[in-house]
Amino acid sequence: MSPLRLPGPPWPDPIVEVRGVRHAYGARVSVDGVSFTAREGEFVGLLGPNGAGKSTLIRLVAGLLAPSAGTVRLAGFDPHATPRRLVARVCALVPQEPRLDWPFTVRDVVMMGRTAHQGLLAIPTREDLGAVEGALAACDLLHLAGRRVDALSGGERRRVFFARALAQEPRVLLLDEPTAFLDLAHQVAAMEMARVAARGGLCVVAVLHDLNLAAAACDRLVALAGGRVVAEGSPSDVLTEERVRDVWGVPVWRGQNQATGATVVLPNVRPVP
Ligand code: ATP
Repeated sequence: MSPLRLPGPPWPDPIVEVRGVRHAYGARVSVDGVSFTAREGEFVGLLGPNGAGKSTLIRLVAGLLAPSAGTVRLAGFDPHATPRRLVARVCALVPQEPRLDWPFTVRDVVMMGRTAHQGLLAIPTREDLGAVEGALAACDLLHLAGRRVDALSGGERRRVFFARALAQEPRVLLLDEPTAFLDLAHQVAAMEMARVAARGGLCVVAVLHDLNLAAAACDRLVALAGGRVVAEGSPSDVLTEERVRDVWGVPVWRGQNQATGATVVLPNVRPVP
């Protein structure tokens, strides 16, 4: 076993703490003085137009990037200064474009989520096998478990990486555009899974472009523009007509889904006469 120890449990509350963080790629400032927190049991959506700094922020939280100013804390520790194996016991990231260069099967890839929990020989324990089967089932992948990931569709492959993150049994689940490339049913399923994970006690932070799915599923939204937080709060507070117009530059109709009560925004695209 590693002599290194993570703080807790009990985990500090909130489990994700970003305070005054700045980051630049060379001369290009990507995140500029951002602060936000997220707690266990909460599903937070990160919104904003292309280039707003959402993916960079997620990578800062995961410890894949270091801030040039400010602090990032994950369960009380600095994720960039902590060995990846220890970070992986707390935090799973599903990136925007997950890649694998070898033709592993779906079950092999999901088992990779268990690496941080395994010993040197990586012999799967009963817990490892149970976590993998549970994640495969949750992501509707049992029928594809023996297939090679390089022979799947883009949407199927995304579900595999989502399952790998679930199998990791993290405390914090970071999702970068989890609904991209998914059909409508699997978009809803992905959001439902994220919500169930949050209700089960995980802290879920997801970058989302679909404002309506975000409004329906997230507890709280953080809107970014130009690397800064421009709004934070409940979906109905954040997604006002004025804000969507100001941040995304698109006039919208804002209403409420009569069946669910969720806030709905629709762009004012005029039908072709
Ligand atoms: P999108 O919605 O398009 O995925 P985003 O909100 O996730 O965008 P980021 O990917 O965080 O935005 O990018 C923030 C800024 O940093 C953008 O101006 C982008 O061009 C720049 N950027 C991102 N990655 C790099 C990189 N590897 N090198 C240089 N600049 C980068």
